[in-house]
Amino acid sequence: MSGADDLDPALAFTVAAVWRRERISCPHPDWIASWMNDGLDGGAQDFVRFHLEESQCPYCNATLSDLRAREDAAKAAPMQDLKDRLLRSTATALRNRR
Ligand SMILES: [Zn+2]
Repeated sequence: MSGADDLDPALAFTVAAVWRRERISCPHPDWIASWMNDGLDGGAQDFVRFHLEESQCPYCNATLSDLRAREDAAKAAPMQDLKDRLLRSTATALRNRR
């Protein structure tokens, strides 16, 4: 996680403590998913980013890594499929040239 690294640890602690005390509600997982895909703008984007990176909400960061893992799995499957199809069509093209 970059961004939190350059933050003064004492300040980060304060921010987290304030956030916990104030009980600022967690964004809906749909928001986290949208934020992950740059689908949010303005205040919503800032709110989710702050919540995840500065407040370091353990629940929402768990949701985020879960979403990322699922996204990676979803991306990996079609890529493999595409590679297979490319290989197959290349093989077909080579065969047809004879
Ligand atoms: Zn949260």
